[in-house]
Amino acid sequence: MKRFGVLTFGAVIVATAILAVLGYVSLRQWGASAELLFREQARDMATMAAEKVEMAVLKSEEEYVSGLLALVLEPGFRPEQIPEMVNTWKAKTPLFDRVYLFDRQGKLLYPRELTGADAPVFAALLGEISQGFWERGGRRHFAVGDQVILAAVIPDAARGPVLVALGRNEDVLRRDVLDKTFRALEGKSMLAIVDKSGQPVYASGPLAGAERVLTVALGEALPAWRVALYQPAGAAPQDSMRRQRMIFLAAFALLLVVIVLGLGATYRVVRRESEMARLKSDFVANVSHDLKTPLSLIRMFAETLEMNRVPSEASRQEYYGVITRESERLTRLIDNVLDFSRIEGGRQRYDITPGGVEPIVHEVMEAFRYPLAQQGFKVDVEIAPDLPDVPLDAPAMKQALANLVDNAIKYSGERRRLRVSARQTRDEVLVEVADEGLGIPPAETQRIFEKFYRIGRSETQGRRGSGVGLALVKHIVEAHGGRVTVESRVGEGSRFTLHLPVREPCPES
Ligand code: ADP
Repeated sequence: MKRFGVLTFGAVIVATAILAVLGYVSLRQWGASAELLFREQARDMATMAAEKVEMAVLKSEEEYVSGLLALVLEPGFRPEQIPEMVNTWKAKTPLFDRVYLFDRQGKLLYPRELTGADAPVFAALLGEISQGFWERGGRRHFAVGDQVILAAVIPDAARGPVLVALGRNEDVLRRDVLDKTFRALEGKSMLAIVDKSGQPVYASGPLAGAERVLTVALGEALPAWRVALYQPAGAAPQDSMRRQRMIFLAAFALLLVVIVLGLGATYRVVRRESEMARLKSDFVANVSHDLKTPLSLIRMFAETLEMNRVPSEASRQEYYGVITRESERLTRLIDNVLDFSRIEGGRQRYDITPGGVEPIVHEVMEAFRYPLAQQGFKVDVEIAPDLPDVPLDAPAMKQALANLVDNAIKYSGERRRLRVSARQTRDEVLVEVADEGLGIPPAETQRIFEKFYRIGRSETQGRRGSGVGLALVKHIVEAHGGRVTVESRVGEGSRFTLHLPVREPCPES
């Protein structure tokens, strides 16, 4: 049994550990793939945003530059036409607010002069335009200082190669390009443009507390910037992973509690079952022994009488008496066992009709008169006058009372005193059996009413019994709608009380 318990316990622990490991591993894997998926999606989104921004910028540039190109390539082109055209384009494409035209010698064709902060920027740009670029023509972005300048060389213009340099208006870039593009991208994530040092220069939402997930480069149109994707606090996969982990841990803890409770309950059931098996085997041994003793006595006295070896008439009467009492004892024991088995099988029926308690008490006391006298018991029987009739099954009630008296005799030590009384309270008739015997420890007062239960002590002191007597008493009084109680002190004695209701018990009770 112990081995089985240890094995079961071990198996459950191993199963739990395997479950924990499996759970943890799959949680990790799930976390890793969720992270991967999230990063892929984030990269796709950032790349898409970068492409859109790039395309929007390039499209504006294209329109602007091709307009200029058409103008400059016209045979009758005069630089004086430029302001009008620039103003038209500026109104249409406000992204570029500074336009400069230079000829091959670097002379400014438009506007009249380089002003303010633009002067060093465009002067520096001129220095960067190579000979080949002047000859081949084409379009390139130059990062000058913190600005991006689009330079387009138109080689075959009527007046020789012309360099068009466009400077962007960053406010318009933010408003018309970034805002529009980023707003169109849905989702929890936020997009931002960060500069070379990683500082955000534009963001689609408040970045406070948000976590940067990744950045992707913008094309050559915006060389110094990158698109960064941010995740609001608590929305990153790590956070949902953390949440999943908490849920997993909580579920696992719950599982552990259930397993521990289950193990505890199983252990209790198994322990109870094995105790019950032990009690049953004790029961068989005890009943056999209890049957044997009176049978041996009956046989011995019957044989003596049969052989006529009786010294006197008085002894003969005594022998008859012994045979009668021992057969009564046998009958009581067998009745107890049979009734108990009927109760266990749910076959016990009681025939409850109104009757007096007094004749029952007298009959039982009469049945025990000889053993009580023989063992030197001082007996008091006190029955209150005018007791009302109560609903009862007289033979069953006699059996219950006989069991209590039998126990009082069995479990009395040196002080042999028995008090049996019957009295009435408001709605009950109480029948009490009190002894001054061994007494019952407080912890055992409820258990003694369980089937087969015997206080170990009684057995060691050689008092045999089946352990079903009090279980029967309990069953009988409860069938009458009553109850049995006990008050006891170890070494001082016990008092068992049958509480019998005066009214009919409810049918269902
Ligand atoms: P048993 O056949 O052992 O007497 P019972 O069900 O009648 O079985 O009683 C259960 C146990 O309760 C007894 O074994 C005994 O230890 C204890 N007991 C019963 N009555 C008394 C009593 N009057 N005084 C002390 N102990 C008692």
